[in-house]
Amino acid sequence: MTGNAAIQIEGLRKVYAGGKRALDGVSLCVPRGSLFGLLGPNGAGKSTLINILAGLVRKTSGTAEVWGFDIDRHPRNARASLGVVPQELLFDAFFTPFETLELQAGLFGVPPRRRRTMELLRAVRLDDRAHAYARTLSGGMKRRLLIAKALVHRPPIVILDEPTAGVDIELRQMLWAYVRELHAGGTTVVLTTHYLEEAEELCDRIAIVNHGRVVIDTDTPTLLASAREKRVDVVVDRDLAEAPALPGAHRVDLLAPRRLAITYDKVETEAGALLATLSGRGLGIVDVTTREADLEDVFLALTARPADAA
Ligand code: ADP
Ligand code: MG
Repeated sequence: MTGNAAIQIEGLRKVYAGGKRALDGVSLCVPRGSLFGLLGPNGAGKSTLINILAGLVRKTSGTAEVWGFDIDRHPRNARASLGVVPQELLFDAFFTPFETLELQAGLFGVPPRRRRTMELLRAVRLDDRAHAYARTLSGGMKRRLLIAKALVHRPPIVILDEPTAGVDIELRQMLWAYVRELHAGGTTVVLTTHYLEEAEELCDRIAIVNHGRVVIDTDTPTLLASAREKRVDVVVDRDLAEAPALPGAHRVDLLAPRRLAITYDKVETEAGALLATLSGRGLGIVDVTTREADLEDVFLALTARPADAA
């Protein structure tokens, strides 16, 4: 085990009854103190991963440690180290926010004198609704209540599963501010999202999952640097049998007999130099178009592969 890992996962697999392979050998380390983004399209396996850690879904194989506690050997300690804000807004409509938090504190064995129910309700701005029935709360209020509920036992790790899916801009801003505050206070935060922008904005580290596999796991600046790739499409004046090798280019693809796509690092290389090399080889250049790749392209490129192509 890595001593400074908040969450350490090795070879995690989940095959649901019916045969759906939701996790296909996920290995991942969430460093302590990080604000970690688990990014991936719908159906990638994010919730399955979270729910295994939370003890709600039984893994098929692999290992996971939460705050150093193996989820098989020390499930209670692992569970107590984690506060999970689920994706689904599931509630017992007959409890008030105050009662909901008290009940949760009881479940985690937090003694009454160590409870901080009103403090948490204030933090998520639900103190004025403390004694209202949950069914009278708006969607945004319910989401905030779920966050408070995940925090009652002061877990060192908080996981938010798609915290802003379907919420309005105002609530999203508020949730982001709150996530930052939690993190600044020393809590390790993991959030899953299918919004690239959200991971980019909040997270210091991002793992992208697709079809139950981690396709990239790196710090956000490095991921952003991979968006430095630029592409230039060139139409030449005669048919080529294969893509020519081109020094300075990351990749050259022959899209059609007369059309080349050249990908290069826009910081290291200039399109002009690449084109000069081509014409220096006697190729006439008929047309040139360039395209700036951004993080969205990187994300799409990494998640565009079909399930079994990896
Ligand atoms: P994400 O949270 O990234 O959207 P999920 O973990 O919810 O992905 O789902 C991963 C895959 O597993 C999807 O194909 C989904 O349909 C499937 N799946 C999720 N839960 C179940 C379940 N209880 N039974 C069968 N298949 C499931
Ligand atoms: Mg999900």
